Amino acid sequence: MSRFIKNRYHGFASYTPGEQRNDGTYIKLNTNESPYPPAPEVQNALSQADLEAMRLYPDPTGKVLKDKLAALYNVQPENIFLSNGSDDILNFAMMAFVDEDEQIAFPEITYSFYEVIAALHDVRVNRIAVKDDLMIDPADYYSLNQNIVIPNPNAPTGTALSADEIEMIVHTNPDHVVLIDEAYVDFGAESVIPLTKVYDNLLVAHTFSKYASFAGGRLGFAVGSAGLIQDLMTIQYSTNPYNINRMTMRLAEATVDADTYYRANAERIKKTRARTVAALETMDFSVIPSMANFVFAKHACISGKTIYEQMLKRFVLIRHFDNPKITDYNRISIGSDEQMDFFLERLTEVLNAYS
Ligand code: PMP
Repeated sequence: MSRFIKNRYHGFASYTPGEQRNDGTYIKLNTNESPYPPAPEVQNALSQADLEAMRLYPDPTGKVLKDKLAALYNVQPENIFLSNGSDDILNFAMMAFVDEDEQIAFPEITYSFYEVIAALHDVRVNRIAVKDDLMIDPADYYSLNQNIVIPNPNAPTGTALSADEIEMIVHTNPDHVVLIDEAYVDFGAESVIPLTKVYDNLLVAHTFSKYASFAGGRLGFAVGSAGLIQDLMTIQYSTNPYNINRMTMRLAEATVDADTYYRANAERIKKTRARTVAALETMDFSVIPSMANFVFAKHACISGKTIYEQMLKRFVLIRHFDNPKITDYNRISIGSDEQMDFFLERLTEVLNAYS
């Protein structure tokens, strides 16, 4: 940290992303990417004309992509906001909707980026405890009279609320924005995008990073009432008007066109998840019921940290969090069947060595 940083950022603790060891040496099950490649149409989407057009700025309105997303999700283009990864939506929403004298509520065990973004903007937070089984109790959010952000499914646990439970949260907090982060919704939970037509205080964030094999492309989008979307655009145009680059825009358009391919991959991942959970349970792990492309598991005797370290030595990267409340657990992304076989074999070695 230099002596020039603003006083209020002195000692600021920024977000720590999962390790990116992408040289092919490791089986990477730590940041919930898809194990499957982008659709062939996406891999071939960039034409010579697209590359020649790189000298020009991209369309700041993202019209073509918004039209395609609107058709896919049965909303209007004016209900869609495009972002450089969905983390940007969280950042812009915090800037746009939470006043200085307000708070933002989120689960105590959740995506740790919310905490960092709130601190960045000096927003007070209301961390709402999860139940002993790490499930969110939706009733804790009814009539809170605060801004709210909840991932559905939650991370890193994978548990999901029903659309009815979320509707109740949105309905009973009519004067505040409820942001539902649906980064992992495509693996079995129910999206509340249809409810954005009914409630003007509901904002839904999506990402192409997980189900659409596009984490490297950095594309997120939000769906909400035209007013909320306008507000996000006001902040975005004041931050980075050309936030989606031409290559990402073109590849994202092709991604939407290939949606059936990605839905089929999500189904494969759900099958692999079921098989992985069953195997973990026979190995004395308890696994939180997951609707996401990862599972959160703890062993009856061996510590979460030991398992993480021993798996790393065996070239398998999983995610361990230093938070004492969840230190017994590891979050394991669901890879391909072959990757999960490799993972389970190495895990058996670890258990044999430590039991
Ligand atoms: N929300 C949740 C719950 C996440 O786990 C992640 C991924 N770390 C994101 C949002 C952000 O994803 P991205 O910026 O890649 O769209």
